[in-house]
Amino acid sequence: MIIEPFKIKSVEPLNFTTREQRQQLLKEAHYNAFLLHADDVMIDLLTDSGTTAMSAKQWAGIMDGDEAYAGSRSYYKFESVLKDLTGFKHVIPTHQGRAAERILCNLIGGSGKVIPNNSHFDTTRANIEFSGAVAVDLLNEVGKHPEITADFKGNMDVEALEQLIVKHGPENIPIVMITVTNNSGGGQPVSMANIKDVRKVCDKYGLPLFLDACRFAENAMFIKMREPGYAEKSVKEIAQEMFSYADGATMSAKKDGMVNTGGFLAMNNDAMAEQARNVLIVTEGFPTYGGLARRDLEAMAQGLTEVLDENYLTYRLRTIEYFGEKLREAGVPILEPTGGHAVYLDAARFASHLTPEQLPGQSIVCALYTEAGIRGVEIGSFMFGTYDEHGAHVAPPMELVRLAMPRRVYTQSHVDYCVEAIINVYNNRLSLPGYRILTQAPLLRHFTATLEPIA
Ligand SMILES: *Cc1c(COP(=O)(O)O)cnc(C)c1O
Repeated sequence: MIIEPFKIKSVEPLNFTTREQRQQLLKEAHYNAFLLHADDVMIDLLTDSGTTAMSAKQWAGIMDGDEAYAGSRSYYKFESVLKDLTGFKHVIPTHQGRAAERILCNLIGGSGKVIPNNSHFDTTRANIEFSGAVAVDLLNEVGKHPEITADFKGNMDVEALEQLIVKHGPENIPIVMITVTNNSGGGQPVSMANIKDVRKVCDKYGLPLFLDACRFAENAMFIKMREPGYAEKSVKEIAQEMFSYADGATMSAKKDGMVNTGGFLAMNNDAMAEQARNVLIVTEGFPTYGGLARRDLEAMAQGLTEVLDENYLTYRLRTIEYFGEKLREAGVPILEPTGGHAVYLDAARFASHLTPEQLPGQSIVCALYTEAGIRGVEIGSFMFGTYDEHGAHVAPPMELVRLAMPRRVYTQSHVDYCVEAIINVYNNRLSLPGYRILTQAPLLRHFTATLEPIA
């Protein structure tokens, strides 16, 4: 039996709306779910980032935080939890993950540089490109096929990594990154064997390896459940082993840090850490708070401890699996198997009458909101589509709609409600219209673009 491994001490109401109201609200938001008011959303599966319900102990930590500018007790607590978990020598707090990425790219990016990853998350890619460097995704082949079931679809293609290094020269590859779990590729885990293989290639060419560790605990739990030799190890030991192969990490603690804001940049290299702290001081804050209130460090220290609870992780992964199972039983195409933090609808098969340029994923996002007040996010042509030199649309490998589960926020009956709504939309899928983009920003366009349905 798996149940929510918590009881509820404090609740927030859901705001109910009618279909007619939602049609109007969506139009006013220019058919971009990021532009909706959250109060008009009933079940918000936009992201699992910073949407965690904190525990009573975390809230107690918030009260107990030491707001000293320099040398805060809360910082030392945060640092000691992270050093114990990651083994890295230097831990630099940042206000969220992308701040850590920006500082890192400031140190190692720049034109002529190439940074590989299994799949770069959108902010990582944007920070790399903003520095003038090139971000390359080297996802293994099986990870590119939403219909194939495999244990570690987040793995990096190690051969492609070596070819990339040889092609560009190791001197132009400042770091190699691995994202655990692979958010852009469906929340799929990376195996310990793959991390070790990537480490070997890095050693061969003298390159540092950095983990994008946002969902390290979910990844570690998958390793425990799926990878031979790890069933008897604790999730904490597995996570420690994952970090032991890396030279550093960036993390948005808004994911497996179980907090509403926070992150860090960690590394072993002393000279690099000194440079990183100098950048941090200019743009984020003093190294013992890095742009956060000190109480946030206290909540992170507690959250990074709680996330290793295997009852929590069992429930967490099962929630996503259950959500996916119910959809699959009804014939709804999803990315298989379900990952750690979200169910991904396979929009290419779901709305197969639409071309990638007609944004099938965005069409599903709009329909789910209208149908039931559920907010998901498109991860496909709207988020990652580009244009070639002739202005023709170039689609990314997959058209997905991500339904991300905030941590400890929704119950099984909320999941059942979502399942029912998605099945209704699926059964009427031929009526889903295509969408066109009216206005867009040069980077991360999905956050602010305006759209309209194609008549
Ligand atoms: C969320 C996320 C980031 C960026 O973190 P923010 O806290 O949103 O700035 C980077 N990488 C991955 C894999 C993420 O999921």
